Amino acid sequence: MLVVFVLPVLPQPVRMPEYWITLLNYIGLYSIVAIGLVLLTGIGGMTSFGQAAFVGVGAYSTAYLTTQFGVSPWLALIVGVVLTALIALLLGMVTMRLSGHFLPLGTIAWGLSLFFLFGNLEFLGKYDGINGIPVLNLFGWHLESGRSIYYLIWVVVLLSVVSVQNLLNSRPGRAIRALRGGGTMAEAMGVNTAWMRVVIFVYAAVLAAISGFLYAHLQRAVNPTPFGLNHGIEFLFMAVVGGVSHVWGAVLGATILTVLQDYLQTLLPKLLGSNGNFEIIVFGILMVLLLQYARQGVWPFVARLFPSGPRARAPEHAEALPQRPKPTVGEPLLVVEKARKQFGGLVAVNDVSFQVKAGEIIGLIGPNGAGKSTTFNLVTGVLQATSGSITFQGERIDSMTSREIVKRGIGRTFQHVRLLSGMTVLENVAIGAHLRGKTGVWRSVARLNAAEEARLMAEAAKQIKRVGLEKHLYDEAGSLALGQQRILEIARALCCDPTLLLLDEPAAGLRYQEKQQLADLLRRLKSEGMSILLVEHDMDFVMNLTDRLVVMEFGTRIAEGLPEDVQKDPAVLEAYLGGVD
Ligand code: ADP
Ligand code: MG
Repeated sequence: MLVVFVLPVLPQPVRMPEYWITLLNYIGLYSIVAIGLVLLTGIGGMTSFGQAAFVGVGAYSTAYLTTQFGVSPWLALIVGVVLTALIALLLGMVTMRLSGHFLPLGTIAWGLSLFFLFGNLEFLGKYDGINGIPVLNLFGWHLESGRSIYYLIWVVVLLSVVSVQNLLNSRPGRAIRALRGGGTMAEAMGVNTAWMRVVIFVYAAVLAAISGFLYAHLQRAVNPTPFGLNHGIEFLFMAVVGGVSHVWGAVLGATILTVLQDYLQTLLPKLLGSNGNFEIIVFGILMVLLLQYARQGVWPFVARLFPSGPRARAPEHAEALPQRPKPTVGEPLLVVEKARKQFGGLVAVNDVSFQVKAGEIIGLIGPNGAGKSTTFNLVTGVLQATSGSITFQGERIDSMTSREIVKRGIGRTFQHVRLLSGMTVLENVAIGAHLRGKTGVWRSVARLNAAEEARLMAEAAKQIKRVGLEKHLYDEAGSLALGQQRILEIARALCCDPTLLLLDEPAAGLRYQEKQQLADLLRRLKSEGMSILLVEHDMDFVMNLTDRLVVMEFGTRIAEGLPEDVQKDPAVLEAYLGGVD
């Protein structure tokens, strides 16, 4: 659809001089690669210097198959894409696990390896490459000149933009956007982050390979030079200059750098009186300036001219999602039996036992360093217990990952709020409903997910209303006050359809009135049948809210019982007030 509307708006090559067509063709080819990098680096947070190598795999596949075996270029395209996907899958499984600086270094390593492979394989023509690549033929239309392949290239650019945008506005897309910052939050919402990383890596590689295919048939010859590491760096440049977290930023960045490079290549040697790749120096300076003054690239400045509303909206009507069967009030839900956690010689949790029954609010309190967060992490699968057992609804969960635990109905919030500040409240909360949808990447790209999306969004809107944030449905999460952000996290946890809600210091940093509102909300959730385990430092906050308190000090449970009894317990007074009566 979009393609039909946009094509006539594109600059028409019929009236354009050859020079401009060539330039636009290259801009298009580079854009396709840069769009993949926006997904991988800008959204997913993984830097790759090696994309040029995937362009090479796409280009060499078609070059080799069409010239050696007379295979149709379109068949060669399929082979090239499949081959690239396989290579990317393999490399992705290995490199995407790397953290910090090791990931970009890893991409440099395989980027170089593939480049030298192209240059040293006899059947790929070594450093001379392969000539005589046939002209593309599309429905009898001979794409011999740059003028005729222009349309094909830009249709592919538009399809790439649309596909990535569709992906980002979907269930897997929200999971991808939640990868930033390590993925602990995403895992706690049930996202398989390791797999999601591999998926976007393969997606970006396939886009690069398609660009390589078009490049080979535009040039009609390939050699290893354009697939080297310096071009991998240029692609990353383009994505960063344009705005690495915006899909259109990739097209803008490719345009800016290609035009600038072309201009500087003629201007600089004249100015300096000698030949050389001086534009690289200008690019370097440009990059430093950009990182200093406009981390988000140029696109945000352009985007201001086109104000747009939020993309995801809550539907008026949608079929409600299925819910888990609710436990009967009083039935034991969570049973912690002599849970122990040691960090080297330090016993952070010392054989602690307690229970949470359905319909109760239990407070786990204690002074700083008592081991509350560590206990919380044992229950949520972030840490594994050294010994002891943790059972949820009769099933052992102490050796499960956080992803498996949320599947069983334990929703959680974080002591330090973890939300995606640039996304709306609605989108943030919808991440919580990840496990209640099924749509994968391909159906999302093809926009076959409308019915499920409506149900997920309706569920998110319902939970937002339940916690009283409905006025902020389309506000950016980052613009909310801390108290509201914590309540947003509760709505997100409720979206998992939890049987038990785990909250880590929900009142920390809140003002008095915000604490009151939070306590009211938790009471209301309890009256609706929700069971809550609340880790808290603030004794006053839990006093009138909880059914029972478990008190910890130095990793050990020192008291348990009704709040009013616990409050009078000498051991608790000692722990909290240092013995003062
Ligand atoms: P609380 O949440 O009650 O303030 P924590 O559970 O965070 O307490 O910490 C309990 C004890 O365990 C503290 O002494 C803390 O320093 C220690 N601790 C917590 N996490 C780790 C860790 N990952 N490695 C080593 N020691 C830790
Ligand atoms: Mg803590």
